[in-house]
Amino acid sequence: MSKLIKTICPMDCYAHCGLVASLEGGKVTKIVGDPDHPLNKGLICVKGRKKHLQRIYSPERVTTPLRKTSSGWQPVSWTEAYEIIADNLTKITKSYGHTSILHHDNGGSEGILKTLSQRFFNALGGCSRPAGSICWGSGNKAQAYDFGRPQLHSWDDLLNSKLIILWVGTCLYQYPAYAPSKTGQS
Ligand code: SF4
Repeated sequence: MSKLIKTICPMDCYAHCGLVASLEGGKVTKIVGDPDHPLNKGLICVKGRKKHLQRIYSPERVTTPLRKTSSGWQPVSWTEAYEIIADNLTKITKSYGHTSILHHDNGGSEGILKTLSQRFFNALGGCSRPAGSICWGSGNKAQAYDFGRPQLHSWDDLLNSKLIILWVGTCLYQYPAYAPSKTGQS
């Protein structure tokens, strides 16, 4: 008998689409959009629908930490990986100070898990952060020019738009939460 599990797409798109996964015999057999999710309302892109299923059970999926060595990538245990990272961070901060570490993350939903890396670096004693953004630096600049600082609308405010321009994107495939069928706009 199949079991339905509500979950969230692990890709870092703004919508962070809600998913419903069907489980049969402990294996995910189907993924559809969650109709109760406030943003995607049941719509998901092809990555959510098909690619996750292909990747979950792919023999090429990376399931352990890998260490780069002179003879290629070698699997290491999680404990070993954490020890290597901790040793290196300790050496770097002792020799060059905390500002020698650049912590960069970007875009996406900015969900609660996303702030964990910031908490980690705060607990470590701080680090450098980039100003602006690699992927939407021009958008940031335009918003600062127009409004004084970057200001974001709530998703529902899209319904008040007379015109929406998607740069290099097709909403049904890449941004289902913007889809006209969802908003009732054409
Ligand atoms: S648009 Fe696709 S990849 Fe992005 S969160 Fe939604 S289902 Fe996932």
